[in-house]
Amino acid sequence: MHTHPHTTLITPDAPVATATHGGRAKCLQRLVRLNLPVPTTVALSFSAVHKIAAGEMPDIPRIVECFAPGTLLCVRPSSEDPDWGGPGAILNVGMNDARFAQLSESMGVEAASALYLRFVQAYALHVARLDADLFEDIEDDGAKGLAAALALYEDEAEEPFPQDPAEQLGGVLRSMARAWSGTTARLLRQAKGAPTDAGLGLVVQEMIPGLGKGECGSGVLQLVDQTTGLPQITGRYLSQSQGRDALGAGAAALYLEKDARGPSLEELAPEAFADLTRYAAQMRRKLREEMQVEFVVQNGALHILDGVKLPRSARATVRIAVRLAEDGIISQEDAVMRVEPNMLNELLHRQIAPNARRDVLGTGIAASPGAATGRIVFNSAQAQASASRGEPCVLVRRETSPEDIRGMHAAVAVLTERGGMTSHAAVIGRGLGLPCIVGASSMQFDARKEQIRAEDGRVLSSGDIVTVDGTSGQVLAGEPEMLEAAQDDAFQTLMTWADNARDIGIRANADTPADAQTARNFNAQGIGLCRTEHMFFEPGRLTVMREMIFAETSSGRAAVLERLLPMQREDFVQLFRIMEGQPVCIRLFDPPLHEFLPTSRSGQRELAEALNLPVSDVTRRVEEMAEYNPMLGLRGVRLGVTVPEIYDMQARAIFEATLEASRDGEPVVPEIMIPLVSARREVELVKSRVDAVAAAVRSEKGRNFDYRLGVMVETPRAALRANEIASQVAFLSFGTNDLTQMTYGLSRDDAGRFMSTYVQKGVFREDPFHVLDVDGVGELLRLGVERGRAAKPDVILSICGEHGGNPESIAFCREVGFDYVSCSPFRVPVARLTAAQLAIAHKIGVDGT
Ligand code: PEP
Ligand code: MG
Repeated sequence: MHTHPHTTLITPDAPVATATHGGRAKCLQRLVRLNLPVPTTVALSFSAVHKIAAGEMPDIPRIVECFAPGTLLCVRPSSEDPDWGGPGAILNVGMNDARFAQLSESMGVEAASALYLRFVQAYALHVARLDADLFEDIEDDGAKGLAAALALYEDEAEEPFPQDPAEQLGGVLRSMARAWSGTTARLLRQAKGAPTDAGLGLVVQEMIPGLGKGECGSGVLQLVDQTTGLPQITGRYLSQSQGRDALGAGAAALYLEKDARGPSLEELAPEAFADLTRYAAQMRRKLREEMQVEFVVQNGALHILDGVKLPRSARATVRIAVRLAEDGIISQEDAVMRVEPNMLNELLHRQIAPNARRDVLGTGIAASPGAATGRIVFNSAQAQASASRGEPCVLVRRETSPEDIRGMHAAVAVLTERGGMTSHAAVIGRGLGLPCIVGASSMQFDARKEQIRAEDGRVLSSGDIVTVDGTSGQVLAGEPEMLEAAQDDAFQTLMTWADNARDIGIRANADTPADAQTARNFNAQGIGLCRTEHMFFEPGRLTVMREMIFAETSSGRAAVLERLLPMQREDFVQLFRIMEGQPVCIRLFDPPLHEFLPTSRSGQRELAEALNLPVSDVTRRVEEMAEYNPMLGLRGVRLGVTVPEIYDMQARAIFEATLEASRDGEPVVPEIMIPLVSARREVELVKSRVDAVAAAVRSEKGRNFDYRLGVMVETPRAALRANEIASQVAFLSFGTNDLTQMTYGLSRDDAGRFMSTYVQKGVFREDPFHVLDVDGVGELLRLGVERGRAAKPDVILSICGEHGGNPESIAFCREVGFDYVSCSPFRVPVARLTAAQLAIAHKIGVDGT
């Protein structure tokens, strides 16, 4: 049959392609090639639809001629990627008075009226563009309602309802073409990743009336469960013979599931059912995808109307990809490519069930994924008390500081008024796998009254039950239904395949034995950043730390630190043992010392008592140590240079732990990292002292060990001077949290206050603390890599800022040639999968296959 070059009858060898006619048209052609009973279909190309939108119509009578006279048609969208959506399908095109009369005989007036009425309504709304509510009062009550609808149409459109099927089809095609070019539709699909010029194809298909003496009906079928991905035939079937009013609302829905009501399709039409499952399996094999089959049964015979990629949960996505590969239908690498890395978050954390009701109290920055429900508490002591009663609690703070660590450990979720993606609560929350929302400035926090006022004015107090959804950033009232985490065998298999493919290392940022265990469970290849300062906030240590701060002399400080040494050594022994010979990179002390001093009057009084000093001495010391910009003040290596006793103690603890852990396990090679470096001389000073401590430990213990010293590049100057810094050390690790803060001159703890405005107004494409700013901060990284490598070709390069767990940022890291990325333990699987996909995509690009 001859058709216009842009309107193509779908036959096995017609020129139909996804890039020109869209995914649905192509899929239908594949079904035709498989010899499946697909009704006659004509595909309109992107360019045909484009012309229609511009007012240039194709030869409509020619399209109509492809079908038997009197055939009812349906028109469906066929965009390149089905996820981009498109206008809704319009059914029963060709329905008119003559056809109505015929159908009234064969199917009864009531059913025929319902069918015609629905077409009139769809046409009125989408083609004639009449108001939707005009038809609201029309009752679906047979011929009377239909007559009223036709009269109303004529009144409002000022012409009778069109009777010519070609005219109807032209109108429908035009309305769908125009809907695609509208602004809203364009914005919607662009949000889903469609290019600005994404095309729309349309398919015009014969409707199978589904009428007759034998079994008739329609439905969908799939071979696996959409939630778990496990093999199980499910679907829905609507039988006309079984329903009193199969087209109306009271139709009997006959489920294919064994335990559902009424007879199943298998019982009603065994042959059609057998064909259907066979075809579905064939589609899965040949289309290399788990499909949902849309079908009609007509007098016991099966017709396949369409096949779409089965919509599925994250968990099912993983299982389906793995099963397709295990059945030899796709390769393991294909399976790895089919799972969007961020989807793994849904498998790693408990989530709010997709259809649960959300009673939103407020929103903030989604800082650590997963959801948890608990009673509100306003401080760490309450959190610990609640945990000891076995009562889950949500820790609510203005912002958190190291003092809140114990409260965070005791809570099931954390909510703060202030902060951004890299503020304390966010970093610790991600490390612990604790759902966390920061910067929830849409709600008002009153710490003194211990109350939060929600967006809508509701007031919440201590003990009220809320749910923190750290995946979406929403704070919800009460306890919505949850979906459990699912790291099942399919997940493990997929991760193994991912590891086979990837070409960049993945380590974890882990501070505690629990973090390290999580890192190991997720197969991280070592610890890329162990922040040691938290260790000093533990009970029993804080007081010693404070004593050290009050010591007047170097020897006085060293003497106090001596008491911390065994505790710190034990911390490291545990980490080394858990990591079993994997590299562990320990960052020397970083925060400003005044973070360890009490700010409240009562705290200062207690400290004075403990140290046996007058309160005024304590207050004076606190005031002396205050800084205008603590993040830019006396911290990191600056402390290492001015108060070297702390680093001496830490180096000794690391080396002694190395010897101890090596005694009964694989030899440990610790990595020691110096934070906040900006000048070569800083490295020289610290290096000579660390070397001296190593020599002392070696000679005291009479045993040898290796270690690697490295620098954390987190000031712009360190990146610029990477040549002279790299030449002295074994590795450089880019701390992109501070580097972003300093490159933008933007406080990571305060950015939350205006970040959303900045992103909304397009000043920043994304929060640069979340997604690495490849233009600015990225340029510093490139310079640092280039200069570091030039001075020392075998220097190990990595990133340990939060960006290490972000897929886009990992792509950048791989491109600039980092040896590994290090991220929060719970982000390790996402990073492993991302890295694998990058390597596979790269290989495909290089091979040109
Ligand atoms: C950084 O600055 O990027 C970093 C990893 O260290 P921290 O977040 O502890 O400052
Ligand atoms: Mg830092």
